[in-house]
Amino acid sequence: MRRTLQLTLVVLLLGTAAPAAAQFPIFDAHIHYSRPDWDVYTPERILSILAGAGVHRAIVSSTPDDGTVKLYEKAPKGIVPFLRPYRTRDDMGSWHSDPGVQAYVEERLKRGIYRGIGEFHLSAANVAGPTVKRLAELSAERNLFLQAHVDDVAIEKLLTLYPMTRFIWAHAGMSSPASTVGQLLERFPKLWVELALRTDVAYNGTLDPEWRAVFVKFPDRFMVGTDTWVTSRWEIVRDYHRDVQIWLVQLPREVAEAIAWKNGERLFPPPQN
Ligand SMILES: [Zn+2]
Repeated sequence: MRRTLQLTLVVLLLGTAAPAAAQFPIFDAHIHYSRPDWDVYTPERILSILAGAGVHRAIVSSTPDDGTVKLYEKAPKGIVPFLRPYRTRDDMGSWHSDPGVQAYVEERLKRGIYRGIGEFHLSAANVAGPTVKRLAELSAERNLFLQAHVDDVAIEKLLTLYPMTRFIWAHAGMSSPASTVGQLLERFPKLWVELALRTDVAYNGTLDPEWRAVFVKFPDRFMVGTDTWVTSRWEIVRDYHRDVQIWLVQLPREVAEAIAWKNGERLFPPPQN
């Protein structure tokens, strides 16, 4: 019985079963399954929550990285593993110049499953840190993405300093206006943007006209995301994605499909086996 249930959940996550309501399948670019979550939600339960929210595939990074591996092992086609450079939360403020983090990342990458490095936090003052530089080089060499939770000054510096590296800008900078996001997309072809926690895209369910203009101009550069940054976020994944569906349907269909899942699928095609 338990095994049957597991298989059903995995099938749902892989997108071979239609969601209950008419809605876009979702590629979620911002999920964490970090240590505090493990005691509350089993990997099977996490996969079930994602499937119930219409999420067919998701970029996952976790502190520590074992959380990502737990999910990946249960659903290798549904989970897109990103290697978070934090061994514990204490690394968050100092990783950029910590040779120990660099060694940890290089060792961990040998696992060969990762499609990116991140999500990491960084201020503009530290973009030239030795560990940042090394991770940017590794990403360019191995065709990985860096997922950066940074403001617009820092993302511009990163893109300028590391022009060979592809970046996913977490939360579109959290507070950067749509016009700034559009200007950066225009200037930097190696920039993609995910919209986790950006409720300003559609206050009260109405798509903001400035965001709409940027989505229509750069339809292939955006993804949606949840950000399960604390355990309680797992309770609202379904509601969060219901709200996302409400603004997606206000876009031209091909733009909505691109942002909902096609961009994620193109950038991170599922493994063949
Ligand atoms: Zn996050």
